[in-house]
Amino acid sequence: MNSYDVAVIGSGPGGYVAAIRCAQLGMKTAIIEKYSTLGGTCLNVGCIPSKALLSSSHHYEEATKHFEEHGIEIPGDIKVNLEKMIARKQAVVDQTTGGIDFLMKKNKIDVYEGLGSFIDSTHIKIEGKDAGEIEAKNIIIATGSKPSNLPFISLDKERVITSTEALKLKEIPKHMIIIGGGVIGLELGQVYRRLGAEVTVIEYMDRILPTMDAGLSKELNKVFKKAKCKMMMSHKVQSVERKGDEVIVKAENKKGEIVEFKGDYCLVSVGRRPYTDGLNVEAVGVKINDRGQVEVNDHLQTSTSNIYAIGDVIKGAMLAHKAEEEGVFVAETLAGQKPHIDYNLIPGVVYTWPEVAAVGKTEEELKVDKVEYKVGQFPFRALGRARASGDIDGFVKILADKTTDEVLGVHMIGARCADLIAEAVTAMEFRASAEDISRYSHAHPTFAEAVKEAALAATDNRPLHV
Ligand code: FAD
Ligand code: NAD
Repeated sequence: MNSYDVAVIGSGPGGYVAAIRCAQLGMKTAIIEKYSTLGGTCLNVGCIPSKALLSSSHHYEEATKHFEEHGIEIPGDIKVNLEKMIARKQAVVDQTTGGIDFLMKKNKIDVYEGLGSFIDSTHIKIEGKDAGEIEAKNIIIATGSKPSNLPFISLDKERVITSTEALKLKEIPKHMIIIGGGVIGLELGQVYRRLGAEVTVIEYMDRILPTMDAGLSKELNKVFKKAKCKMMMSHKVQSVERKGDEVIVKAENKKGEIVEFKGDYCLVSVGRRPYTDGLNVEAVGVKINDRGQVEVNDHLQTSTSNIYAIGDVIKGAMLAHKAEEEGVFVAETLAGQKPHIDYNLIPGVVYTWPEVAAVGKTEEELKVDKVEYKVGQFPFRALGRARASGDIDGFVKILADKTTDEVLGVHMIGARCADLIAEAVTAMEFRASAEDISRYSHAHPTFAEAVKEAALAATDNRPLHV
């Protein structure tokens, strides 16, 4: 039987990064993945394919709506070839997952294809292509998550679908009804709206992106409304019924009235659930809480001391970069180091256009915590760079402590915010004040100047360009 220092179950961004870091630190490492491709949700049916379709559909929208204003004329009709668009997305996925195979070989990590389950705290059974048993001193559970559903919805995966099916549709929906105005609903809703589908977003809470700063929700809601998406807030879905090619969704509004929506596809995007099916954690006494998450302590150690857990399967944000940080954290802990993660500084990004990005506390959280804060906000439309490209929607908002001026949260919506947020994370990691950010040079003309201007506004209300 093969013996290892560490065995990782699951090859998503949590698992494969943990395996690489363990190998880098000199541990003999194995990774077990039940599917034939590595990379987990993120690479196969999550981050990467969704961003490929967001990019393709953005190009189409630029070509159909904005090329002309830039003086670019295309004779004849511009058409979408969905089959080709989906094939390109798959090629991007294949190249990316292939890259993980290369990294496993490079780092001499043994890969086992098959479902991993616990025999005891140091032995794992593998069922599938590489069936057998392996032994490991330490085991990392990185089994990720699966889409959640509402108890009364029957997902037929043809017309009543999750994000996984929405990434490989064979036709552009006429009317896509989306249940859940969170990250998946908005990103994939924007893809299909751009391609010509009518889109209705039904959200249970009173705003989209309910966990982000309310200012961002409001601004993105405007963008979706401008694109003629129907945004139905405070609607509680009651039933979803398929009749032939039609899907009928009934929801209760604030007044208690039942509102009916008819479409040809319904995307259910109401969150994801931690995934431990078939893992046989009962055999090793690893505790699962009432939300289905593997319970861990501050060292990401489960109730069984040589078994750790990371990523979507434990508490916290379900984000690829959070899973990656935790993978590195556990590997370094096993190597006797003292790593650290500041969960407050894990950024969140929504890859719509304009992009939405945030780090640190929201205004709502600061109010609850009774922290006195200052706000500095700067609109992109006041930037030369934004006017040059025509991306004038959005703003950067910096929240700073009223007394010390330390930056407590940065919330932004606009072009390239997914990348701009890195500056805010860096500044906050070094506990910068708003004045610190306002005093270092930002290249002109760039979108990043909005960060400097928002910092000037937060420091003592002296932005230069508004
Ligand atoms: P996963 O990526 O879910 O990987 C777990 C792996 O474990 C899977 O491959 C699974 O097959 C395997 N597995 C499970 N059980 C077993 C077993 N018993 N034996 C063997 N293998 C097993 N996050 C971002 O940060 N940015 C984004 O832009 C983003 N976009 C997303 C878009 C979509 C449509 C979706 C669905 C998610 C997106 N996410 C994004 C979230 C991101 O994909 C997850 O947070 C991330 O993949 C979690 O990583 P993980 O390693 O914990 O688990
Ligand atoms: P989410 O938690 O972001 O959004 C779910 C939304 O559904 C919420 O707004 C919630 O209020 C709403 N909802 C819940 N029950 C409802 C009901 N009965 N009726 C109507 N609305 C209801 O979840 P998601 O969009 O499914 O995404 C799942 C996870 O994947 C998220 O945790 C997210 O972090 C991750 N993800 C991240 C990215 C990214 O980082 N860009 C992209 C996609 C997914």
